[in-house]
Amino acid sequence: MGGSGVPSGLASGTRPASEAPPHAPVVDIKGLSLTYEAADGPVYALSNVDLQITEGEFVSFIGPSGCGKTTLLRVIADLEQPNGGHIHVNGVSPSEARVRRDYGFIFQAPALYPWRTIQKNVELPLEIFGLSKAERQERSQRQLELVNLKGFEKKFPWQLSGGMQQRASIARALSFDPKLLLMDEPFGALDEIVRDHLNEQLLKLWDKTRKTVLFVTHSIPEAVFLSSKIVVMSPRPGRIIDVIDASHLGRERKLEIRETPEFLKIAHRVREGLRAGHSYDD
Ligand code: ADP
Ligand code: MG
Repeated sequence: MGGSGVPSGLASGTRPASEAPPHAPVVDIKGLSLTYEAADGPVYALSNVDLQITEGEFVSFIGPSGCGKTTLLRVIADLEQPNGGHIHVNGVSPSEARVRRDYGFIFQAPALYPWRTIQKNVELPLEIFGLSKAERQERSQRQLELVNLKGFEKKFPWQLSGGMQQRASIARALSFDPKLLLMDEPFGALDEIVRDHLNEQLLKLWDKTRKTVLFVTHSIPEAVFLSSKIVVMSPRPGRIIDVIDASHLGRERKLEIRETPEFLKIAHRVREGLRAGHSYDD
């Protein structure tokens, strides 16, 4: 479980010390707390959070506004510093993981540059990392194919629908092959039909790439449909109140799964958790 437990049979020295052994937690959090000092007093954004995420999992974070979902993702991505507790990402500190480019971050708004074509947007991180033109092109082509945007390389973002723009931002996040994809309500601004479609595509992408995905959402059906694990959170102070295993729904899921008793059972438990956290009445 802990960081020191190297599985027997894995001779030490066969992999760099900084790289986590297989099945070691990709994200390992113990007793994590973060308090913001706001003008009108402290905000307890995260309190005593324990969480372990294994390689290849799809983990959704669900809870009402202000329960610390974004803060937690930002701590994992080294964009925010906790006040207490321990956090390891791929066996190292978040800042070391950031230097190794372990993260791809996808926000609610696609945040594409309007003066760059879709392909040039996807290539932007690769330009910053100093890759050659040939390699940039090869990678952007591959990622655009993966998100079904082949043929749209030369378009500008404003020529694409909202759903396509968000797919382009996913391709951009994947371009430097990060181990972890951090997605903060990526489909929150899209209508339900587009969102359903993107959810199906995202599951396929997850299956193909075998990435570990951390996904923030407000939607119970979205969380259950996508996840192998669902983390239910509650505000004031921001904390985890339930962790639900949904891996028995399998990796390949069709939208129709939402009508099945297994799916509805998990959705019910998520709803109960949110209620128990007084999420709806304050
Ligand atoms: P969520 O993403 O679940 O809506 P956040 O992580 O954004 O929640 O915020 C958790 C709490 O911390 C909220 O009460 C929010 O107002 C507060 N908060 C977030 N960022 C800051 C900040 N930079 N300064 C002060 N308070 C903040
Ligand atoms: Mg948020």
